[in-house]
Amino acid sequence: MQTFRSTKELGEQFKAKMESVCPKCEFSPCRCAEIAAREAEYKRMEEMEAKKEEARRKAALAKRLGGLRALEDFTAEKYTNKEILKALSSYPYGNFFLWGNAGIGKTHAAVAVLRNVPNAYVFRLSEISRRFRSSLEVPDEREQVRFFSSCNMLLDDLGSEKITDYLQSILFEIIDTRWQSKQSGLIITSNVDIASLGQLIGDKIVSRIVGLCGQKNLIHLTGTDRRIG
Ligand SMILES: [Zn+2]
Repeated sequence: MQTFRSTKELGEQFKAKMESVCPKCEFSPCRCAEIAAREAEYKRMEEMEAKKEEARRKAALAKRLGGLRALEDFTAEKYTNKEILKALSSYPYGNFFLWGNAGIGKTHAAVAVLRNVPNAYVFRLSEISRRFRSSLEVPDEREQVRFFSSCNMLLDDLGSEKITDYLQSILFEIIDTRWQSKQSGLIITSNVDIASLGQLIGDKIVSRIVGLCGQKNLIHLTGTDRRIG
C-alpha cells in the first residue's frame, strides 16, 4: 500500500506542477517577462547592427561616388535633362567626354548613371595622383595603372587641376592602355572643349580620349537646356 500511496502522491505532485507550468513559455514559475525582455534586447542589438551596416554601406557608396553630396543630390530623379541621361544610358558600355561650363550639371549627369554600376568610381586627377604617391592602397605603380586602366570610372573635372609631368605620363599610360584594350566604362567631365584641354594636359592624351570616346560621345552641355552638341 505504501508504494501505491507514494505513487499517487507523486502523481498529484506532478499534476500540481503541470498545472502551474505556463502554457506559453512552459516554465514553472512563468518566465515570460524575462524571455520577452531578452528578446527585446536581442532585437534592439540587431537593429543597431543593421543601422551600423546601413551607415557603413552608405559611407562606402558615398566614397565611391565622390562624397555624400554626390550620393544624395546627384540622382537621375533630380536631373532635369533626360536627353543627356539617355545619351549616357549605354554606360558602362562606351566612353564619354562631357564638357561645358562649370555648374551646368556634368558631374550630376555622370554620377546619376554611374551610381547604378557596381564598382564604378568617381576620381579627380588629384585623387589619382595621391594614390600613385602613396603605396598604401595598391602596392605598386603597375598595379595602379592596371586598376585605373580597367575600372569603370568618372574622371571628374579634367583640366581644372594643375598637371605635373609625372602625372601627365601616368594619365597618358592609363588612357592609352584603355584605348589599346578598347576598355569601356570611362566618363570624363571638363569645363573646357577638347582643343583647349589639349593645351592643358597635352595633345597626346587628348587624341587618345577622342579615340576612346569617338566623335559621337563628345557631348557638349550648353546653356540651361544642356543640349547635346
Ligand atoms: Zn510564461
